[in-house]
Amino acid sequence: MIRSLLLFTLASVACLVPNSLFSSEKIKVLIADGPQKAHKYLDTTPVLMQILDKIPRFEVDHSRSSKESCKDGSYMPDFSKYDVVVMNEGFGAADWPKATQKAFEEFMASGGGMVSIHAANNCWPNWKEYNKMTGIGGWGGRNEKSGPYLYINSEGKVFRDTSKGKGGAHGPQHEFELIVREKDHPIMKGLPPTFNHGPDELYDRLRGPAENVTILATAFSSKEKRGTGRHEPALMTISYSKGRVFHTILGHHVKQTKEGSFVTTFLRGTEWAATGVVTIPVHKDFPNQKFE
Ligand code: ZN
Repeated sequence: MIRSLLLFTLASVACLVPNSLFSSEKIKVLIADGPQKAHKYLDTTPVLMQILDKIPRFEVDHSRSSKESCKDGSYMPDFSKYDVVVMNEGFGAADWPKATQKAFEEFMASGGGMVSIHAANNCWPNWKEYNKMTGIGGWGGRNEKSGPYLYINSEGKVFRDTSKGKGGAHGPQHEFELIVREKDHPIMKGLPPTFNHGPDELYDRLRGPAENVTILATAFSSKEKRGTGRHEPALMTISYSKGRVFHTILGHHVKQTKEGSFVTTFLRGTEWAATGVVTIPVHKDFPNQKFE
C-alpha cells in the first residue's frame, strides 16, 4: 500500500516537473556572427558566450562568417550538431552561401532553435525564409513589400498595419519599460508584469512576414523619443515549421547585454528555443542583478 502510494506520488510529481529537470543532457549552442555595420559583434559575442557559460547545461561553440567564406561558399557550419543557433549577425552582413542558407532552413524546419539578438533582424532582407524566422525586421530596404508592421494596439490586440513605409527605426537610447503580454509563456513565467531596461535602442516600425509570431513583451515607443506612439514588440517567439525562434530587440552593445533584463530573458529564451521548456530560474534580484 505504502509502496504504491509512494510510486503514485512520484509519478504525479514527475508529470508536473519538466523532463529536462531530470536530465543533465547538454544543450548545444552555436553563436553565429560576422562582419557587419553599426554593431560591435567582436565585443558582444564574447559577452553572450560568457552569459551562456554560466549555465552548466549549455555547451557553447562559435562560428564567424566572412565576406570571403560567404563568397566562395566555404562558410558552412554543421548546424545538425546543435540544438540552437544564437544569431549575432547584423546590418550589412554578407549573404550566407545558398547551400548554407538551405542547410539552416532545413535545421530550423526539422525542429531546430534560433535566437535573434537585436540587429540580427536587420540582416538579409532578401533571404525569404530567414525573414519568416525573425518574423519582423528593419532597415536594408525593408518596406511594405516585406510585410506588415506589427504592434499591440491600445486595446491590447495584435495589430498588423499594411500601410506603406520603410521598416526599422529607433530614437536616441533611453531607459524604457517592458510590458509582459504573455505571462504564462514558459520564457515569461515568474517575471514581473512590467520591468525596466536600458538605456538601449528601442526598435520601432519593424515589419516582415509577421507569421506565427507571439509577442511576449512590448515597449511603448514614445513620440518624445522620436518613436511611433505605439506599443512595439520587444520580445517575441516565432514558430517556423517545427522550429522555435526567440527574438529580442534588446542588446545594442556590451552594456545592454549585461543588464539583468537582457541576461534573464536571453538565457530563458535560448533554453526555450532549444528545448521548448524553461528551467532556468528568474534571478531573485531581477532585473537589477549584476552580471560580472
Ligand atoms: Zn543597435
